Amino acid sequence: MTFDDLGLSPKVLSAVNAAGFTTPTDIQAGAIPPALERKDVLGLAQTGSGKTAAFTLPMLTMLEKGRARARMPRSLILEPTRELAAQVHEAFTTLGKEHKLTIALLIGGVSFAEQNANIDRGADVLIATPGRLLDHIERGKLMLHGIEILVIDEADRMLDMGFIPDIERICKLLPITRQTLFFSATMPPEIQRITNQFLHNPAQIEASARSSTAESIEQRLVMAPDDDREKRDKLREVVRAEGEVTNAIIFANRKTTVGVLEKSLLKHKFNAGALHGDMDQFSRLKTLDAFRAGEISYLIASDVAARGLDIPAVSHVFNYDVPVHAEDYVHRIGRTGRAGREGRAITLVKMEEMRAIKAIEELISKTIEWQGGEPSEEDIANARSSRGRGRRSGGRSAGGRSAGGKPKARSKPAEKAERSEAPAKAAKPKSEKPARQRNSAPDKSSERGSDPAGFTQSNMPAFLARPVERA
Ligand code: AMP
Repeated sequence: MTFDDLGLSPKVLSAVNAAGFTTPTDIQAGAIPPALERKDVLGLAQTGSGKTAAFTLPMLTMLEKGRARARMPRSLILEPTRELAAQVHEAFTTLGKEHKLTIALLIGGVSFAEQNANIDRGADVLIATPGRLLDHIERGKLMLHGIEILVIDEADRMLDMGFIPDIERICKLLPITRQTLFFSATMPPEIQRITNQFLHNPAQIEASARSSTAESIEQRLVMAPDDDREKRDKLREVVRAEGEVTNAIIFANRKTTVGVLEKSLLKHKFNAGALHGDMDQFSRLKTLDAFRAGEISYLIASDVAARGLDIPAVSHVFNYDVPVHAEDYVHRIGRTGRAGREGRAITLVKMEEMRAIKAIEELISKTIEWQGGEPSEEDIANARSSRGRGRRSGGRSAGGRSAGGKPKARSKPAEKAERSEAPAKAAKPKSEKPARQRNSAPDKSSERGSDPAGFTQSNMPAFLARPVERA
């Protein structure tokens, strides 16, 4: 199968060629032909599968006919985060460079005046986060009844971030005759409900098995000590042992950990930078640009960035913490091994995170190999019972095994070690606060909730419901 077989226009084919794409990915081969026939599309695909081009390319072809009118955009793409919206904008600019289409980007952190000017000119393509879009609609500056094509991207991420009511509101403002292209990496019941409600007899394309991880990613687990300082040592040891790390994303569960890791890695002469939801738009984009340009080799990120980064050739993903949501693991490691490239994903695992690893393995239907020694059933049982005894009196738990498989001495309480290094300046972690409401802050692309893992007291699984030191 080649791009020539998909029905794209000559202008689009020349842009595809210029971008260096030779073979369509699965989601492109599956989604582009029905999209060009103006059918609704339901694509199960994760970031890294080439799904952005799967909707950008047919849209460019279809938008070649017709013109936009002032304040009445012709197509709308909804993205959960500013970064994703900015990346889709970039894809349109690159792939649509021969099209002379007007593209408007409506995201938080950019002035309304500038965005209004683009809408007034008549946008062929409107790329928006749901909160900012609704703000524009409420201000009477935007009409959606001219929308011919709607794209809902990363729908499961929208669900995570609480955007589903906004999506439903927006969909009801659109003409029912529109075409809808809908993408999600997973299909939880709430997303299924939305697709039943808003898609009409869609062509369904499953680019990869549900919640699967790309075969081109080599995944490893490494036993990590409980003590924070020792764990940071372990991270550096693991990174150095990899030898050739072209560039890497290091994921941590907490904003404060991101800051601490940045300072620590810089101190140890790693070329590192941090990215998380508390940074303003300007600092985020600056850090991302520096990472893209290779000026930063190690990008430390919290989960808010997990699905938002489009960096084509990340050689490694390191999970400093095991993500609490198994699905976040899939998204995190999806940053590497993209579009058929080789990638390595290494996860540091503390004993107390063994259950989360089991949940991940169940989700991806794969056993992940251990590097440098696997914990025995006995180790895990010991860790569990010692956690039960010691947690309340200061967070003490069993030490991990070293890479050689030797048990380590019991570690210091985690809180003490955490305090020994202050968060880095650049990351400026603020106090944890609940996700902002749309009216007070239009863009919801900040961290997911008061707990960075997204759990509240009421929905926290039993094995996590233990006292945790607050960052
Ligand atoms: P996405 O899943 O849309 O985030 O795309 C992941 C990466 O794959 C992006 O950097 C794209 O530029 C790249 N890509 C998309 N389609 C292709 C293709 N057919 N061949 C090679 N690379 C591609």
